[in-house]
Amino acid sequence: MNYYSLNNKTHYVSFQEAVIKGLAPDRGLYFPATLSTLPQSFFDNIQNLSNETITFEAIKQFVGDEIPEMELKQILKETLCFDFPLVKIEDNIYSLELFHGPTMAFKDVGARFMSRCLAYFNRDKDHKNTVLVATSGDTGGAVASGFLGVKGVEVIILYPSGKVSDIQERQLTTLGQNITALEVDGVFDDCQDMVKKAFLDADLQHKNLTSANSINIARWLPQMFYFFFAYKELKKHNKPLIVSCPSGNFGNICAGIIAKKLGLPLTHFVAATNANDTVPQFLEKGIYEAKPSVATISNAMDVGNPSNFVRIQEMYNNDLNEFNKDFSSYTFTDEATKEAMQSIYNHSGYIAEPHGAVGYLGLKKELKNYPDSIGFFLETAHPIKFLDIVEPVLKVQLPIPTQIESVLGKEKISFKIKTYEELKDFLK
Ligand SMILES: *Cc1c(COP(=O)(O)O)cnc(C)c1O
Repeated sequence: MNYYSLNNKTHYVSFQEAVIKGLAPDRGLYFPATLSTLPQSFFDNIQNLSNETITFEAIKQFVGDEIPEMELKQILKETLCFDFPLVKIEDNIYSLELFHGPTMAFKDVGARFMSRCLAYFNRDKDHKNTVLVATSGDTGGAVASGFLGVKGVEVIILYPSGKVSDIQERQLTTLGQNITALEVDGVFDDCQDMVKKAFLDADLQHKNLTSANSINIARWLPQMFYFFFAYKELKKHNKPLIVSCPSGNFGNICAGIIAKKLGLPLTHFVAATNANDTVPQFLEKGIYEAKPSVATISNAMDVGNPSNFVRIQEMYNNDLNEFNKDFSSYTFTDEATKEAMQSIYNHSGYIAEPHGAVGYLGLKKELKNYPDSIGFFLETAHPIKFLDIVEPVLKVQLPIPTQIESVLGKEKISFKIKTYEELKDFLK
């Protein structure tokens, strides 16, 4: 399978090269050169297929012959070693829970898949790849856990000191082995800037740096699996299907649109955002204006310039009319998010964390336009990950799940840095 750079459509690379590089040399995101629909029989029969079979059928065209069938199936098996329950909240509203993995955030799926692909590509090489990633919270933990002990890969995670939750910090800093946490005296944007600078730095070429954010196709593409899993359950209702994704960098929703291109019958997508409303504004005005991010209670979506949006535009040939048929995007305040958390809890006893609640709000709004449809929203993290918001808003006390308990007692190890030069010294 070939991928081209969105900055230069004549620059093609293999799956392997796209995964190892992360970003094209011209700074463009990689995009699959072809998208083939799956046979109708696959969708007719999907309710009888295992998750392993479904995901193999969905991903195989993107990998091609670069990973043999047996190995790819093994990678998928290890990636998907937990459940993806679909929970009914209201008559026509379901929550697709993506948080049952080791770090209790949906990013576990992409991180586990990517790490295993890299391990396969490094299987008989001596050189190392260095995964360099900046995190505002959830990405770092998922990457640390997903890459732990993977041969030939060193992982360096930058996080802003004092700006991630205690649980998130422990998930990044207690694993050891090939995982190193750098605690940056600054904010998330400082971490992100340092990472970007490192990728462009000629002095660091020998480190084979790659990213593990959703710009990397191996982090991004497996996220399409969620939509197949939901369809498998909801198909029996025989109604048009709407999905709402709480969106930050728009990786999840972009993977959902790929699933639709493969033939998955989803009728409409909602990208629900917090106050970071670059995309809702774009749909309203037709002008894309990146903005500095603003802080909200759904902080994993505090993104002012969503990196995957260019991929979505590519799929709709930059045609706003075509795009509007399939896609809506709405912004919600922190106040509305808290109210939604309360009303979901009062009506159904379901505990949604702030990101899921934003997704719920987007779905609720869109269902007014499509009253005969059913919908699901992605619940992207376990409420425990955002307990400082969930507990006071719902006036509940959350039990600590075993995945989290196991990191709480461990000792934090991090290295403090302040400047890019310090990062560079560290890498060298
Ligand atoms: C990363 C993240 C999101 C945003 O996902 P994108 O694919 O970047 O749009 C939403 N919720 C949680 C909890 C996250 O960690």
